[in-house]
Amino acid sequence: MRPDTRWRDTRARSRPNRSATRFAPKKHLLCLRFQTMSATSLRPVPRPAVQAIEAYVPGKSAAPGVAKIWKLSSNETPLGPSPKAVEAFRGVAGELELYPDGAATRLRAAIGKRYGLDPARIVCGNGSDDLLHLLAAAYVGEGDEGIFTTHGFLVYRIAILAAGGVPVVVPEKNYTADVDAILAAVTPRTRIVYLANPNNPTGTYLPFEEVKRLHAGLPGHVLLVIDGAYAEYVRRNDYSAGLELVSTNENVVMTRTFSKIYGLANLRLGWCYAPADVCDALHRIRGPFNVNGPALEAGIAALEDADHVEKAAEHNDKWLAWLTKEISALGVEVTPSVGNFLLIHFPQEKGRTAKEADAFLTARGLILRNVASYGLPDAIRMTVGPEEANRLVVQALAEFLGKAGARG
Ligand SMILES: *Cc1c(COP(=O)(O)O)cnc(C)c1O
Repeated sequence: MRPDTRWRDTRARSRPNRSATRFAPKKHLLCLRFQTMSATSLRPVPRPAVQAIEAYVPGKSAAPGVAKIWKLSSNETPLGPSPKAVEAFRGVAGELELYPDGAATRLRAAIGKRYGLDPARIVCGNGSDDLLHLLAAAYVGEGDEGIFTTHGFLVYRIAILAAGGVPVVVPEKNYTADVDAILAAVTPRTRIVYLANPNNPTGTYLPFEEVKRLHAGLPGHVLLVIDGAYAEYVRRNDYSAGLELVSTNENVVMTRTFSKIYGLANLRLGWCYAPADVCDALHRIRGPFNVNGPALEAGIAALEDADHVEKAAEHNDKWLAWLTKEISALGVEVTPSVGNFLLIHFPQEKGRTAKEADAFLTARGLILRNVASYGLPDAIRMTVGPEEANRLVVQALAEFLGKAGARG
């Protein structure tokens, strides 16, 4: 096939879509087109939407010159993975030349068994980030709108922009997603709503009744993505990760991860439970081997070690409550969290700001997460760590806030 023929074919096919782009006036399109064409003569230029993305900046992992580091910046579990998962991971070391099972058949069966789900409606990903991106790629087109909330997980914005969509950011109430505000933001262009429940970095959650009310108010063509990255940590009777909503509707997806309570962040393993049509769309566009073999084996073994997960949840219950109480007692505000992290708010007063607190803690090897990029310049997020680290943070904060002597 001659290259110019192929080019003409593509162009003819994409024309009807272009005229359907309601919010983009013709002049704008011409201008973009001119930019692209003139730029291609110099060097390849990414689409404008890609250039509008601010790359995700992960939590810090180093403090120069400090001997002992406590990394409390990425919500990793202090208990590490199940030893059985580590053993399964090692078991694959002799087979690195082989492609993994691209269908993740045994892992999907294991997830299905553990959660009582149909494996055919589970899709695995290279971390749940992979799935969050694939969902936008499949459902959000040029100029379509994707909704998330003010302090929602940053990957949603990146996924929507990368797909060519328009991010619509909805205000929260008390650092919590606001169902009425989300519903009010829906337009005929809305294609996807991302809701982390519980949310990172705030640690707040919506009771299941509220999630159901959100879903009930969405038009059928809007996909509701419930990100349950921290679901295993939540101990609330009115919470649900949302399995039931996915089972009974065509437009709800739940994403989950092995990065948090399962302690396998380094392997990049996530999954989603979705309606059959959504699974079909994801399978069409995902990488054919998007989950690696060591991750598959470690994931299967991790699911079998329910005791390890329970231990991690118990550790979190104890220390989340302790940290919330102790840090609040120092006179700073802590947003009540149901996850494995907490958001600490600092005053704007010089000498006591979040930025200064962060520097003070980092100098002591206590690495927390600066959340300015989440629209929270006056807060820092702390992952619940091992006992020793938790105690060190409270001591350091007491010193920083000048309360060390006062508490005896
Ligand atoms: C950590 C996190 C994830 C998990 O990402 P992975 O790609 O699975 O490691 C997803 N959503 C939220 C809100 C998170 O905080």
